[in-house]
Amino acid sequence: MSDAVNPEATPASATIDWAAKRADFPVLARTVHGKPLVYFDSANTSQKPRQVIETTDAFYREHNANVSRAVHTLGMEATDAYEGARTRLAAFVNVRADELVLTSGTTQAINLVAYSHALPTLGKGDVILLTRMEHHANIVPWQLIAERCGAVIRVADITPEGELDLDALYRQMTADVRLLAFTHVSNVLGTVNPVAEICREARRRGIVTLVDGSQAIPHRPVDITALGCDFYAFTGHKMLGPTGTGALWARREHLQSMPPFLGGGEMIREVRFEKTTFNDPPHKFEAGTPNIAGIVGLGAAVDYLSATGMAAIEQREKQLLQYATESLDRIDGVRIFGRAREKAAVISFLVEGAHAHDLATLLDLEGYAVRSGHHCAHPLMAYIGVPATCRASLAFYNTVEEIDGFVKALGKVRKLLG
Ligand code: PLP
Repeated sequence: MSDAVNPEATPASATIDWAAKRADFPVLARTVHGKPLVYFDSANTSQKPRQVIETTDAFYREHNANVSRAVHTLGMEATDAYEGARTRLAAFVNVRADELVLTSGTTQAINLVAYSHALPTLGKGDVILLTRMEHHANIVPWQLIAERCGAVIRVADITPEGELDLDALYRQMTADVRLLAFTHVSNVLGTVNPVAEICREARRRGIVTLVDGSQAIPHRPVDITALGCDFYAFTGHKMLGPTGTGALWARREHLQSMPPFLGGGEMIREVRFEKTTFNDPPHKFEAGTPNIAGIVGLGAAVDYLSATGMAAIEQREKQLLQYATESLDRIDGVRIFGRAREKAAVISFLVEGAHAHDLATLLDLEGYAVRSGHHCAHPLMAYIGVPATCRASLAFYNTVEEIDGFVKALGKVRKLLG
């Protein structure tokens, strides 16, 4: 399979000049250890196109000021750029802009829900249902608030292929379950969960749902409204945006009933020593000076993804995933973790007899950036019975030639370690 001639490609993906897209990412032109960089760590953080880099740079060069505070020209330009990015981000995921709280990322978004929604509403014996494939960001905040309010954590299981066991999950949705927090796409297994169906089942039973969309938003079209969840958290730096950016969408009724998480400037209407009144959502949850340049850059990332087309990106990455999986399956001693029917371009693997960190270190010497370790998913690693895996995570800017090179490099590394 080559990038230029791909009989599998349907028009959406085939009409895009992926090589030109790739050329938009300056860092992909560099070398490491004298070899061309091959970046297979996009699930960790994505690379940034020049449009995002230039927009962030231009913000600091030409418009830098604080938001929502000053009437001078720069202040208004900065506010317009910041709120404009919120509006485009909201449209991108099909929600209302005034229901989209801008955060520093998924971690802050989930903590906001834990402390402002769950802690005040859950009590002793109430159950928070999680799944075995969660990132620590969707485990630890719930543990912290459960300790304080007496709630109990329960865990939904996965099948040997790495899919959620849906029948078991629905059986676990008992009357004491108040909240279900689960990932849209697993950062270790690549599993894409049937979010709309799960949320429908939860809603029928009066269970509030939070979806961790960190690994979904950058890689497939996501219509949050159509999913039917209560909360959806995602992060900007995995979707071509700057680090320290992200968002939480929440149903209006939750945003209205939730008390603020952090107090300070921006989130207030009037401050008296006797009593303070708060701004309307989403500003009620955005205390202090935000990452203005970052959010403006995230707006440029949204423009880039929208112009490329999320359906085309999904299709391209599916083709790369299939090609990479088939190629790795042909190598003796390679074991892939996660064989879900619906899967994103994340391949966790091990090579017989080799430690994940040794593999990643030797691959780095060949120019290949893959992540090794527990991937912030200790409970999942314990469940699959390994302390660490290597993870190759692909994005639309990767190529089949890079995959071919990777397979060769892996063969070489395997010999060195064997
Ligand atoms: N959830 C998942 C599934 C992730 O992959 C990550 C990042 O790796 C996070 C949450 C945390 O995102 P952030 O560190 O941007 O808050």
